[in-house]
Amino acid sequence: MSGRHTSWCAGGHHCGHGEHRSAPITYTAPGAGTVTLTRIRTTTGQQYAEIRLSVVLAQHEPAARQQLTALLTHLQTLIGPPRHLRPAA
Ligand SMILES: [Zn+2]
Repeated sequence: MSGRHTSWCAGGHHCGHGEHRSAPITYTAPGAGTVTLTRIRTTTGQQYAEIRLSVVLAQHEPAARQQLTALLTHLQTLIGPPRHLRPAA
């Protein structure tokens, strides 16, 4: 099936060279930021959620730096280890 589009592939310029990409979904929080989510399947069959995140930062330090630290912490939590690597409960 590697040569065929997936059911969610947007086709056209969104995919090529064996990689399939969905149409991006964008959410904007006015004054706060924007996130764009795209589903991807690579030539190996591995699937990814590609997330482009733009967050409005405070104008001054240390507030901006604190935002970045909080963002990194949340992003690390969001990614987490793969479920199959987690110890059994
Ligand atoms: Zn495709």
